[in-house]
Amino acid sequence: MGKNTCDFCGETSYMLFPCKNCGQSYCAIHRLPENHDCTGSIPSPRDYTPFGSTPGNAATYSQAALEQDSPGEYSWEPNITEFDGDPFDPSSGVVIKGVMLPKLKEPFHIAIAFAIMFFIGILTAMSIFSQLVLPSFTSVERAIFPYLLASISTGGFLTHEFSHRQVGRHYGLPARFRLLTFGMLLTAIGVGGYLMSSGTFPPFALPGAVVVIGLDNRDHAGKCKIAGPLSNFIISCIIFPVIFLIPPGNDEYRVLLLYGAYINTFLGVFNMLPVGLLDGANIFKWNKKYYFLLMAGLVAFLVTEFVFFYNTSLFLTIY
Ligand SMILES: [Zn+2]
Ligand SMILES: [Zn+2]
Ligand SMILES: [Zn+2]
Repeated sequence: MGKNTCDFCGETSYMLFPCKNCGQSYCAIHRLPENHDCTGSIPSPRDYTPFGSTPGNAATYSQAALEQDSPGEYSWEPNITEFDGDPFDPSSGVVIKGVMLPKLKEPFHIAIAFAIMFFIGILTAMSIFSQLVLPSFTSVERAIFPYLLASISTGGFLTHEFSHRQVGRHYGLPARFRLLTFGMLLTAIGVGGYLMSSGTFPPFALPGAVVVIGLDNRDHAGKCKIAGPLSNFIISCIIFPVIFLIPPGNDEYRVLLLYGAYINTFLGVFNMLPVGLLDGANIFKWNKKYYFLLMAGLVAFLVTEFVFFYNTSLFLTIY
């Protein structure tokens, strides 16, 4: 059996669990000794009562989770429950596919993602502000604005991910930010495309995401998923009115905030696309009304931002 297959059923599984009795690895369905004709003779260090022995949180969903679990289905929300210990720690024996540097703790993953997002944010912002011509735009502002815009875009990304993480934790589920191999590949392609096209294609980055374990309750999954793009919508709602509070004559700050709002809106809309592993796919399945409401709000922002970009007289004060 390969590294990613269950030693009982042979299915390729997103997560594998070591059996403390026999030492073999199993999928979520065959994880417990009674479910894989366990031959181990080592006495179990804990009581393996399959369901309901642990009060509260994730254990409550275990029965439903194990029945519905389909090993081999590719998902960021594997249905595991009743796993004592930290499933994100590789020494627990749990294999989470697609995670880069699994041995590194969450703060390192966040720091690496932050550095990548910030670097790409500066790249984008430099090309924006190098083309900006405004009489009030000073050389000092020209030097610091890329850092300000990179802070807004990185802040939007982290707020999005932490919104998922906190809602997951609210439901008692293990949730961590992880660097993802696929995301890093997309990031490399995105940055490479940007550099090779000399800035024609906007750089694209998605170094990682929050992985929530045991998100099998559809209502909880929907709320956990919608938290991300909803946070981008809220950030845009906060930034947008501030644009018009900036005193006339400081148009460069209006441009900065409009780009900040745009990047946030774009992040929200992109994640709301109802395809693949994106948040939108789960939200659409969960509640179509909420899906269309949030998508309509985000698209309204996106359209408004484009109207402003192409009609600068609507928000700039100097001519
Ligand atoms: Zn199995
Ligand atoms: Zn066993
Ligand atoms: Zn998301």
